[in-house]
Amino acid sequence: MASETGKRKIGIFGGTFDPIHYGHLIIGQLALEVCKLDELYFVPAGNPPHKVTDDVTETIHRLRMVRLAASPHSQFRVCDYEINRTNPSYTVHLLNYFRKQFPEEELYFVMGADSFRELELWYHYKELFSMARLVVINREGSDTLSLEERAIHYKKDFKAVITLITGIHLDVSSSMLRQRIGSQQSIKHLTPKDVEHYINEKQLYQKQVKNRA
Ligand code: ATP
Repeated sequence: MASETGKRKIGIFGGTFDPIHYGHLIIGQLALEVCKLDELYFVPAGNPPHKVTDDVTETIHRLRMVRLAASPHSQFRVCDYEINRTNPSYTVHLLNYFRKQFPEEELYFVMGADSFRELELWYHYKELFSMARLVVINREGSDTLSLEERAIHYKKDFKAVITLITGIHLDVSSSMLRQRIGSQQSIKHLTPKDVEHYINEKQLYQKQVKNRA
C-alpha cells in the first residue's frame, strides 16, 4: 500500500535469527499491518557486532531457516546482504544498501524493545533516524513508559519518526528455543514446522547452551 506521499513502504527487520521463531514472524506481521508496509525484509546478521560470535550458528543454517519461515508469507522477503559480508555489519551500512535498492521508497527499520534500549551502543546510531523510520515492538520485561520516554527524546532531539507497538508481549526468544532443544524439550508451536524439521535434520542446538548477551 502506498503512503500518503504515494511512496511504497519497505520494512527491514534485522536479527541473528538463531533460530527464527514465531515471535519474529508475529513482529513482522504487526509491522506490516500497523505501518501498512508493502513488504518486509528479514535480514539475518552475518557477524553480529553485539553478540559473542563463537557460538552463533553458521550463517548458512540461519539463512535457510529464515527462508523456510518466511516463504509462506506473500509480503515477507529475505535479504542475504549481511550474510555475504565478511566485515562486521552495522545497521547504517544495511540502510545505505536498502536506500540504493529502493531510492524512492519509505524505509522502516523494525526492532524489539531490547534492541531499542541499546540503540545508543550502535555504530553511528544518530544517523539511523534520518535513514529510516523506526518501528519498535514491546518485549516481555520492557517498561512501556521508558520506551515512550526514549521515543519522545529521539523525536525531539533527532527528528526521529518512531512507531511504538506496545499492546503485545511475546514471551519467546531464540535463547528459549536453544535452551529447550539442548534439554530435549519440544519447540513445537514456537517456530514453524519446517524450521523444526530443519533443526532436527541438521542436529542444531543439541548441546546445552548458555544464554547469550
Ligand atoms: P536471543 O534470545 O538469542 O537474544 P532473540 O529472540 O532476541 O535472540 P534476535 O534474532 O536476536 O532474537 O532478535 C532480532 C530482533 O527481534 C531484535 O530486534 C529483537 O529485539 C526482536 N525480538 C525477538 N524476539 C522478540 C520478542 N519476543 N518480542 C519483541 N521483540 C523481539
